[in-house]
Amino acid sequence: MKAYDKGSLGKDPALTKEECQSAILKHIDGLRGIDTHCHHLPDRKFKDVDLKFIYDHSYCDWMEPYPADKKDVPQYLLRNCSNSYFYWLRRGISEIYGMPVDGEHLEVLDEAIGKAYRDPEHHLRILDEKCRYEKILLDNYDHPGVAESSGKLFVPVLRCNMFAVCNCISKRDHNDNNPGKYIPGIYEHSFEGYLKAVDEYILPHHILKLAIAYDEGNRIRNFDKDRAAVAYGQEHPTEEAYRDFYEYMVYHICRLAGEHGIIVQIHTGLGTMKDTSPLFLKELIGALPDTQFDLFHGGYPWMDDLLGLLHNYPNVYADLCWLPIISVSAAKRFLREALEIGGCDRILWGCDTWTSEESYGAVLAFRHVLSEVLSDMYEEGYLSLDETCYTAGQIWHGNAARLFGFED
Ligand SMILES: [Zn+2]
Repeated sequence: MKAYDKGSLGKDPALTKEECQSAILKHIDGLRGIDTHCHHLPDRKFKDVDLKFIYDHSYCDWMEPYPADKKDVPQYLLRNCSNSYFYWLRRGISEIYGMPVDGEHLEVLDEAIGKAYRDPEHHLRILDEKCRYEKILLDNYDHPGVAESSGKLFVPVLRCNMFAVCNCISKRDHNDNNPGKYIPGIYEHSFEGYLKAVDEYILPHHILKLAIAYDEGNRIRNFDKDRAAVAYGQEHPTEEAYRDFYEYMVYHICRLAGEHGIIVQIHTGLGTMKDTSPLFLKELIGALPDTQFDLFHGGYPWMDDLLGLLHNYPNVYADLCWLPIISVSAAKRFLREALEIGGCDRILWGCDTWTSEESYGAVLAFRHVLSEVLSDMYEEGYLSLDETCYTAGQIWHGNAARLFGFED
């Protein structure tokens, strides 16, 4: 018995789940994707690339660094075999270089990778031809707002942490940035002058990123400018005064964005895990209905909190970036609920990686999650085949094209 009776909405499914999955994947093969978030390394950093380099610049390194001695690699791969980062990176590398990532192939893989990277365009060609991206939103935290790549697909995003974190010239954000590095003399102004200089710096950009979950967290409640002014320029403000500055600056930046049609991307979930759930942004989102918030990572592990915001606030987008490679199971649950709660128009995806090999692994993970969830919905009689294909196309391409203004 089918879980849903479509009644007058349509016929019972005629395809098997596997056939439906193939149809969905074939449909999105005909579209180029928009990768809403990545940290692809600058061209100059792709030097002496081998397997170790790829693992060193991946999430696998966060779990356990690649062994210095090659003889330890098979055991390293074995003890991490169930970890999702390892699984999808191995899938990505295997498919690109045409051989498994295992103890027997380490030498020949290193050779194949080294040979491929003799062509300086190799990493860009993977993004173009294997990942099939149309655009890639690039968050370069070493040089905020600058792509530092010859790749034509990149659209730089301005990371704005420093404007909120740094109340004075000696303060640095977690990426070691301070506004004084980019706007000389900015702290010689009054607080009003500081705000004006920040606004002028931000306004030429179309997309902003706040990764404040790696700094002071997502709890944003102070919208009062006078309270914010107290800590401005102070080396040793009280904790309360500092919070007032920090929270107001996040509000100020998001309000400015809303007034000028600039999209705000915010990291939610993991990070310092101190006040980093998306729910801590509730007051900010409620206060700024004209600002479009692209909330990252499904809020993982607080996915329910993001789903609640998606339900209540039409200016919230649920971005799956990073989530399928954190956990396929979590990504499937999140996507299914997000579709049921918010419809298919406010769901996005990005790879959130540094190398093309990991980016392609993230594409494979996303395609798996997308086609699994939608074919389940088809099999249950919840969606028709046309509806599953339309939905997949919106998440892979259409929603981001509309939100970020990439439509023809
Ligand atoms: Zn990221």
